[in-house]
Amino acid sequence: MAVRREEEMPEESPATLKEILYARELRTNCQRRLLAEFGRPLVSFTLNIAGGRKAFPLAERTFREGKWLIARELERAGIPVAVYREDCGRTGYAGFYAVDAGAERVKRLAAAIEESGPLGRLFDIDVLRRDGTKISREDIGLPERTCLICGKPALLCSRSAAHPVEEVVRKTQEIMRSCFQEQYAGRVAQSAVRAMLYEVAVTPKPGLVDREGNGAHRDMDIFTFFDSISALAPCFRRFVQEGLDFRGEPRKLLASCRYSGLLAEDAMFRATGGVNTHKGLIFSLGVLCAAMGYLHGNGLPEDMDAVLEACSEIAAPARGELEKAPKGPPTHGEKAYSECGFSGARGEAAKGFPHVKSIALPLLRSLRKAGLSPNDAGVAVLLHLISRVDDTNAVSRSGLATYRAVQSEVQKCLSETSEPKELLNLARGLNEKFISLNISPGGCADLLAVTFFLSFLFPGPQ
Ligand SMILES: [Zn+2]
Repeated sequence: MAVRREEEMPEESPATLKEILYARELRTNCQRRLLAEFGRPLVSFTLNIAGGRKAFPLAERTFREGKWLIARELERAGIPVAVYREDCGRTGYAGFYAVDAGAERVKRLAAAIEESGPLGRLFDIDVLRRDGTKISREDIGLPERTCLICGKPALLCSRSAAHPVEEVVRKTQEIMRSCFQEQYAGRVAQSAVRAMLYEVAVTPKPGLVDREGNGAHRDMDIFTFFDSISALAPCFRRFVQEGLDFRGEPRKLLASCRYSGLLAEDAMFRATGGVNTHKGLIFSLGVLCAAMGYLHGNGLPEDMDAVLEACSEIAAPARGELEKAPKGPPTHGEKAYSECGFSGARGEAAKGFPHVKSIALPLLRSLRKAGLSPNDAGVAVLLHLISRVDDTNAVSRSGLATYRAVQSEVQKCLSETSEPKELLNLARGLNEKFISLNISPGGCADLLAVTFFLSFLFPGPQ
């Protein structure tokens, strides 16, 4: 994921009124020159930012976003840009486009961008006719723009200085910040959903639900997983947002995510008619999403090691809970912990996903680089995880001795071959065996999803 931290970018000092007026004059001259030179309608893009501080990192990012939207919209409409000029500095950001199209048509596209979302409210996209006159929103039948603070016509409020500049600036920055945070949360949550879809689609998976069958399960099939994943999609955004909003020590973040976690479990059970498809993964991916949000929201480094380190701090209290006697009926994880000392999803997260970091992710990256499909690479990664991980789901269903025997068989096979086709055959053969022994390595499947998730966000050296 491209990481660019606003805090690290230089903060410009506020421009004086004289500088702002001078810059305005220069921009008007620039517009006149472009109109004279190219004889085409002109798009003039600036940001609506009150006060003297026009250039700051969030504003620069907002300007880049606007530029991208304008370029894309013109491209979509098949409108060539004869020339683009930019003027960026302490007095703010401005972009000028001489375009090959009727001015009214361009103004309609510009208005659509201005109205496309919260950030659009901060865009000022003027369109000048060939003769230099400006097309107003009224000219194309649109209502005038409204004030960010009170919703009355914006021009009225700015002319009468109806609101203190600081209030308008604060509101403006809030719009920018929350918009970029939402984009970020959306990107991370999308990777979580994509990882869950990849995991369930990988086939064949011994004992697990895949595209060919239900493994050792009788109460769920691949459609149960689709139902659950669709219901969980918005929940992952919430975990990221919890992390983004959180200030304090990461180990206290788990407590503030707890309610979001319960809501996610409710959403899953409602969608599946009471079947537990993803409880462990809600925890693992939830912690990862919260960790990503925490680092991003607190301006900390966002490399993968930092994310895994944050996970271990966030999940640490959950590991402590396993050591206390559980109230009520024990979960798979609690049963496995009390019987075999396995710490499951909670333990993996609290240790910073060591099996993913040292085994699964390097293997997935190298197999993908060698040209294997996500499916075949996923099968190989899963087999390696089964051979190494103490899977609480599998143990709670089949008992420790059976699971150990199966593990050593998988280890032996993996030491004999790494041929992708043979691994697929091995997985298919194991599926029969796992079904007869009632083994479902759900914990390893969860780690496979975590591996996919990290590979999407951190593709590694190319
Ligand atoms: Zn107002």
